[in-house]
Amino acid sequence: MKATEHNIPEIKERTSQHIRQFRKEAEKLGEVFFAIPETGFHEERTEQKICACLDEWQIPYTNHIARYGVKCSLGGSRPGYHVAVLADIDALLVQRDNRSVPFHSCGHSIQTTILLNLIQAFSRSRVLEEISGKVSFIFTPAEEFVELEERRRLRDQGIISYFSGKQQMIAEGLFDDVDAALSCHVMNPDPARPGLLFDLGSSLAGFVHKRIEFTGRDAHAGAVPHLGRNALHGASLALTAVQMFKDTFPPEAHVKLYPILSEGGGVTVNTICSRAVLETYLRTQDEASLRDISARLDLLFTSCARALELGCRVTTSPGYLPLSQDPRLVAVMAENVGRYCDESHVVRNLISGASGDIGDISTILPTAQLGFSGIEGHVHSADFVIKDTVHVYETTAMLLADTIVDLLLREDLQVRYNDKLQRRERYISAWLAEQRSPKEVLV
Ligand SMILES: [Zn+2]
Ligand SMILES: [Zn+2]
Repeated sequence: MKATEHNIPEIKERTSQHIRQFRKEAEKLGEVFFAIPETGFHEERTEQKICACLDEWQIPYTNHIARYGVKCSLGGSRPGYHVAVLADIDALLVQRDNRSVPFHSCGHSIQTTILLNLIQAFSRSRVLEEISGKVSFIFTPAEEFVELEERRRLRDQGIISYFSGKQQMIAEGLFDDVDAALSCHVMNPDPARPGLLFDLGSSLAGFVHKRIEFTGRDAHAGAVPHLGRNALHGASLALTAVQMFKDTFPPEAHVKLYPILSEGGGVTVNTICSRAVLETYLRTQDEASLRDISARLDLLFTSCARALELGCRVTTSPGYLPLSQDPRLVAVMAENVGRYCDESHVVRNLISGASGDIGDISTILPTAQLGFSGIEGHVHSADFVIKDTVHVYETTAMLLADTIVDLLLREDLQVRYNDKLQRRERYISAWLAEQRSPKEVLV
């Protein structure tokens, strides 16, 4: 059957009906996932719960992808457009009673629940059996770029090769036959605009991590300080220089640099400090400026060291690439938003300083990420609370389902990157490779 012969509003209504009917169960599932927060590459119980749902619904799946990721595909009996819908499943750490404990403060338990709601709706409504194309639902572990020592240990043991779930999945070829990627993420509440419901087309920053080790020479701080070489002075000079360096960029360049002194800085006050380590993320909104500014920073740090006759080792590791949403996919989401709210409840094309590994996906595939409201407190904070369960588990899921139906049925909306395999190769060799052997600049 041709797309034009399908009754698209009727198909959307069928999936919506199943999503609405599932809401009470979705709320319960949401509570279950919220109650079992697990940090990246340790989402064992979360994976088990996802698989238990799919087993119950008799939907085949593959698990243990990128350690605890899960994928299931529906449709595909007739060739056509292939959409991947992604959900993060990992939690963050928050401080409670002087301890770090896992907590779902980035809303990934919501994404996990929405994806299960979509799976049951598309499966029970059987709409994908009637139309061409395929949808893959992918639960992705380890989105938060945290606990890197632990991830290095997992990498050394050969359990993972890269530090994020999506990076690992791209390297494993999971997206090679996919045409476009959709995802969703909870928005930070904006006190100035409390009525916002959705965010369309916003960007995320890309980032690299830099570690800067200054090495000097110790000496008696009272008798012969001039014979020492003060590593803390190198770090201090660099911190001052970084502030001046930031002033060379206009606000619209969105350059974010907030270094910390992470190690060293002196042992005893009567000895000149011989070791100081700075660490920082560098965030920008495009890969080219990220590389350019990163190289200029290497020069800044090494020049500070040279001026004070210090040694300096700058190690740069790639984090995530900027998220650049495909405007054509965003337009499909935007067309469907009107079914749920008017334009006053929608914010568009924000430039965010936050980052996510969905950015890496957007360099190889047309990608759109829907932002949704519905929480109180703040994202990445211990006061994070899920408030509007109808909006997060039902309305957001329906909007994503509508977008999927349009993409499968309307060939005029089906965007593809014809060079996606070359994009993937380039991504692996030019970006991910530096995660395995970070770039070093030495003086
Ligand atoms: Zn987060
Ligand atoms: Zn997140």
